[in-house]
Amino acid sequence: MSKDSAARRAIANRLWEATHNDALTGLCNRQHFQDLFRKALTQAHYAGRRLAFLLMDLDNFKDVNSTLGHQAGDAILIETAENIRTLLSANDTISRFGGDEFALLLSDHTREDEIKLVADQLLSVAAASVPRLSPKLRSSASLGVSLFPDHGSDVGELIQNAELALYRAKAGGRGRAEVFKPQMRAAVTERLNQMSTFRALLETGSITPYYQPQVRLTDRRSHGFEALARWILPNGDVLLPGDFRAALEDPDAAILLGEHMLRCVTDDLRRWRETGMPACKVSINATAPELKRGDYPEKIASVLSRKGVPPRLLTIEITETVLLDEDVLQLEKTLRDLKDLGVSIALDDFGTGFATLTHLRSHPIDQIKIDRSFISELTSNDDDNAIVRAMLSLARSLGIETVAEGLENEAQLRCLQMLGCEYAQGFYFGRAIPADEAEAYFRAHRAYRKANLAHFRIGAA
Ligand code: C2E
Ligand code: CA
Ligand code: CA
Repeated sequence: MSKDSAARRAIANRLWEATHNDALTGLCNRQHFQDLFRKALTQAHYAGRRLAFLLMDLDNFKDVNSTLGHQAGDAILIETAENIRTLLSANDTISRFGGDEFALLLSDHTREDEIKLVADQLLSVAAASVPRLSPKLRSSASLGVSLFPDHGSDVGELIQNAELALYRAKAGGRGRAEVFKPQMRAAVTERLNQMSTFRALLETGSITPYYQPQVRLTDRRSHGFEALARWILPNGDVLLPGDFRAALEDPDAAILLGEHMLRCVTDDLRRWRETGMPACKVSINATAPELKRGDYPEKIASVLSRKGVPPRLLTIEITETVLLDEDVLQLEKTLRDLKDLGVSIALDDFGTGFATLTHLRSHPIDQIKIDRSFISELTSNDDDNAIVRAMLSLARSLGIETVAEGLENEAQLRCLQMLGCEYAQGFYFGRAIPADEAEAYFRAHRAYRKANLAHFRIGAA
């Protein structure tokens, strides 16, 4: 062979590589895989053979990229690709299908029990590479399967059905494999309908924040509010979050609601400032899906600066269960970024989860909100009384503010005052009210700043 033709052949090879293979992992790319899939389908059709299409997606890969960096993300993809390769036989085809998605076509193992075995092996090799690179991060993958000819006769249909099965696997808790079933399509359509109804409710303002006063116990003055979502029906009836819990349990809906509440609350804070209302703090409830996305602090920063609302007026309430999430690194970064912005962080429903002293010390928590279940029998149950006393003394020694939730009567109020709890909210002071009523309430009941109060006390003495 002449030098020229060898060089031409090398260039042709490289070109072929570049157009058919993924540069990072060396696996075939999506386009090439689909061509091979089409050919395999035709052959299987004439030979009367079965095929299995597997679609695997790494869970929370976005978090890996944002906490460990893109280089680490690339290393994980390369290692995962290599590990998958070692599991497959010569007749199987594997592809990097998208960012963190791998597709496999099995022609030798197409019985359900065989597929299950391969799927389990795939899930465990995919989960193995992240912790090796970063022992603190736990990772997993999810997998959707469709079969030829049972679930479709062309490439498009088989891919779509594997995507539905993958979606089901993710929704069912991730780290698992699901084989397509026809009813999955109906379930997804149903969910999309619900989501668009929910989106419309947010867009038309039917869901809106109401404000429950938070009161300083030394002088019973209000220093702010907790914003609670309310759904206003056309006939004027007001529904509570318990009435639309199904929506709140859906991670995408929870994110939409969170964004909507943040927008409404910062609009109200801006309006109150513009009308000359004295500075008032507002707490909003954040959910795990919002905090997990990694962009929560940016979102908060941008909406606050757009509306000219000082960050110190906003408190983000998170629940203990969020702290127990496996993705510790990501959460720590999110909370630190929020603190750096100047917003406060409150630990909601304190005492009902499994948060420990370590959590309070290792996260930048400004405030604990003692759960209503400890307050309701505070004056009659010695155990509850002892627990609240211990919580208050723990918070005091850590320099953390205390808010009692669900305060309903004068006896509880006096008891909390005696125990040195700083703030409380509850029906005794008032239920959540619309923004305009909240403004009037705050003007009438606002707390003076500590300096003024000291002055007032000296003057009164
Ligand atoms: P939460 O964050 O613990 O909010 C306090 C709940 O206790 C509110 O119920 C409030 O109305 C109720 N409450 C306040 N004082 C008393 C009292 O003295 N006695 C009794 N029995 N209840 C009292 P609500 O508004 O029904 O909210 C229930 C839960 O729904 C909230 O619990 C919170 O977890 C969630 N939620 C409310 N608004 C939002 C929101 O905008 N976003 C998210 N993600 N969750 C929200
Ligand atoms: Ca709350
Ligand atoms: Ca609470």
